[in-house]
Amino acid sequence: MMKQYHEAKAACGDALLFFRMGDFYELFLDDAKVAAGVLGLNLTSRDKDSDNPTAMAGFPHHQLDSYLQKLIRAGYRAAVCEQMEDPKTAKGLVKREITRVVSAGTLTDDGLLDPREANYVAAVCLHRDKKKSKDGTPPQVGIAWAELSSGRFEAGTFPQSRIEDELARIGPAEVIYREDDVHFSPDTSASWSWTARPAWSFAEDAAKETLCKQFSVQSLEGFGFEADDTAAVRAAGAVLTYLQETQRRDLDHFQSISAHHRTGFLQIDAATRRSLELTRTIRSGSREGSLLGVIDRTCTPMGSRLLGDWIAAPLIDSNAIGARLNAVDELTNDGKLRGDLRGTLKETFDLTRLLARIATGRTGPRDLQQVARTLASLPTMKARLTQRSSERLAAIESRLHLCPELRSQLETALADDCPLSAIDGNFIRAGYSEELDGLRQLAKGGKQWIAEYQKRQMDETGINMKVGYNRVFGYYLEVTNSHRDKIPESFIRKQTLKNCERYITPELKEYEEKVLSADDKASSCEQLIFQELRAQTHRHLAVLGEVAAAIAELDVLASLAEIAVTRRWVRPVITDDSILKIEAGRHPVLDVTLPQGEFVPNDCIQSPEAGMILLITGPNMAGKSTYIRQVALITLLAQAGSFVPAESAEIGIADRIFARVGASDELSRGQSTFMVEMVETARILNTATSRSLVILDEIGRGTSTYDGLSLAWAITEHLHEQIGCRTFFATHYHELTQLEESLPRVANLNVAVKEWNDEVIFLHRIVQGGADKSYGIHVARLAGIPTSVNERAKDVLAQLEADHRDALDRPTIQTPGASSSDANGKFQLTLFGFADHPLIDQVEKLDVNAMTPIEALQFLQNAQQSM
Ligand code: ADP
Repeated sequence: MMKQYHEAKAACGDALLFFRMGDFYELFLDDAKVAAGVLGLNLTSRDKDSDNPTAMAGFPHHQLDSYLQKLIRAGYRAAVCEQMEDPKTAKGLVKREITRVVSAGTLTDDGLLDPREANYVAAVCLHRDKKKSKDGTPPQVGIAWAELSSGRFEAGTFPQSRIEDELARIGPAEVIYREDDVHFSPDTSASWSWTARPAWSFAEDAAKETLCKQFSVQSLEGFGFEADDTAAVRAAGAVLTYLQETQRRDLDHFQSISAHHRTGFLQIDAATRRSLELTRTIRSGSREGSLLGVIDRTCTPMGSRLLGDWIAAPLIDSNAIGARLNAVDELTNDGKLRGDLRGTLKETFDLTRLLARIATGRTGPRDLQQVARTLASLPTMKARLTQRSSERLAAIESRLHLCPELRSQLETALADDCPLSAIDGNFIRAGYSEELDGLRQLAKGGKQWIAEYQKRQMDETGINMKVGYNRVFGYYLEVTNSHRDKIPESFIRKQTLKNCERYITPELKEYEEKVLSADDKASSCEQLIFQELRAQTHRHLAVLGEVAAAIAELDVLASLAEIAVTRRWVRPVITDDSILKIEAGRHPVLDVTLPQGEFVPNDCIQSPEAGMILLITGPNMAGKSTYIRQVALITLLAQAGSFVPAESAEIGIADRIFARVGASDELSRGQSTFMVEMVETARILNTATSRSLVILDEIGRGTSTYDGLSLAWAITEHLHEQIGCRTFFATHYHELTQLEESLPRVANLNVAVKEWNDEVIFLHRIVQGGADKSYGIHVARLAGIPTSVNERAKDVLAQLEADHRDALDRPTIQTPGASSSDANGKFQLTLFGFADHPLIDQVEKLDVNAMTPIEALQFLQNAQQSM
């Protein structure tokens, strides 16, 4: 057996092997040690007395699911090795085989998955085209992602720099990468697990062949891949190979793959996604409390997953956004329609995942019954959707295929209560199959005869006896020892137990034969019927897949309408101009989580006339971050096709949203807060376009005041002069408010604060103009800093303000381009005006990589002397 174990172990790579032995799964050797630690199992050993005992740990078979879940959460993979024969009938050692390898990205068991979330396995494949890299074309990365439980499969080619952002959008559970790729190292702080895979599984030719074979096509062009999508195709091939290898069964539900094109979607980088807490909160990483968690009013898991997709990837095309809004509008206006549809949606089951189980053959009678029940809800849904004016609802109606023959076949065949597994039997309704009914009758009749036979024997012999059954010698009559001497001669003794004896008779055997064979035949007949029903449903996979997608979309639209009505959201006006006009806007999450009426709504007007860069000053805790996030979230919701929390909103479509907010969550990555802040800001300055929306919160906080202030100043100038995008900049540097005077499209806002008896009251109201005071000391008092410390801080502040008034109130600030040479011809280094110093030019020309430290020092010395 250990030989068999080692063979299985060799075939499952780095996965832990769960080896089935009778009613237990056992782990051996190092696997046992890991499992003992992670799963809390008892570590024992086999052959304890030998020189080399084998470490071993195990658990009863019915606990498989919960142990798998624990292990996978801890980042491991597991191979399940089952007994392939009945140990009672097997000759010699029972045959065993690995039936599946389970990892975070390949889970399908309902018990292990959150029905509201997709569970993707993704692959990243760096691709360097030798010819192109000579022209300076940057390397590309192919990313493919697939969901085993639904058959969804997509792949796209992206610039290498976008790996992190795209993976953050997809949110996979597991990512595979090429084990020998020297240019790529997995980010171990990511929320998914990484799995290294051999290079061959990423090879271009093999990938094409695997994909074409799976989809029965000659070329992948039909799926939208283009000639330069090699990276995407290679990644897709790697994902499919991985699934085939780990699942070892049909993957019929993977019927196509779609080429993902980034155009068409609002681009959101990973940091922004995290900061805005779109689908997970920063603090706990959970869905609860995120934008998605708060707005999700869907009635089905399919809808819940699709809403997640919509929030993760809002649109940029005004027609497509308008189409969604029209449908939400229609459902918002007609409460009865919405209520009816939502009621019917609640009667449906997770068709997408049911279909995947049917396609992979891992299905049972209850799954088919749920398909039938979902089909049964369609006529009402479809009827409510006829003659709808919005194009999306009409399209959904046309995709709700009723499949009447399939439904009626399943309904007439399946009993009211179906078991999960077909092995349990008794799930075909009486009256569906004459053959089955006949066999069941026969078995039942036989059992009845046996009961009567027992009674007759008791009457004839006057002995009390019982009828029993066991696998070894079938039906028997059991007589207690006290009646032993009264046994008729025709009884044949089969077994002697402590208090009784068991007998058979030729008549009993004859009927037993009839009962057993009828029972056997009935259950094989039932299995055949089940296979036929499964095959019949399987033939409808494509059509049912369309139904599932239509139900999901209807659910999302109805959910958006529901939140719009319950939270009094309005339909945004979508335009292609770079503007934002929001009247009485609210933060979508705080609006729901704060007690009714506590949230203070705020307006926002942003346009070339009213100001494109809005600087929001005000004390800490006043509500600056809330305001700027609120604007970003409202824009994002509008582009996803949702109504928004405001009294009115006009939203100019943004091509990208950037949020640079707080950096505390980055500390775990081992980078300094300031470094992270600057890397992200650099990205914004390098990639934002005039159509983007940028929100910046307290840039420069991670360094000294002058450093921070100077950076914030220069960043604002760059955004104003070079990019011209809509920007919200929350800052406690009130010195920045001076920029309003020199830059025409900068406007100052501040958060109103009321001072009363030396107390500060935050009104959370955004008003025009800059703040003139910091109130940090007041906030410190609110936080419980002792009065003596506060009083001392006030003195120090007064002193500092007096000392620096001249320097800070009127710093000699130069806007770029203005000359600042003094009378001696020497350069006067003002706080912000060194943009055109001759040294800058010299520094730019330096080839630092080619310099020795001594040369660098010499350069510095010369520079110092020339100043
Ligand atoms: P800042 O960025 O100015 O330090 P925050 O935006 O973090 O302040 O807000 C501080 C707290 O004030 C938040 O936790 C929130 O509960 C509350 N708050 C902010 N804006 C509002 C508002 N418009 N209405 C009600 N409460 C608000």
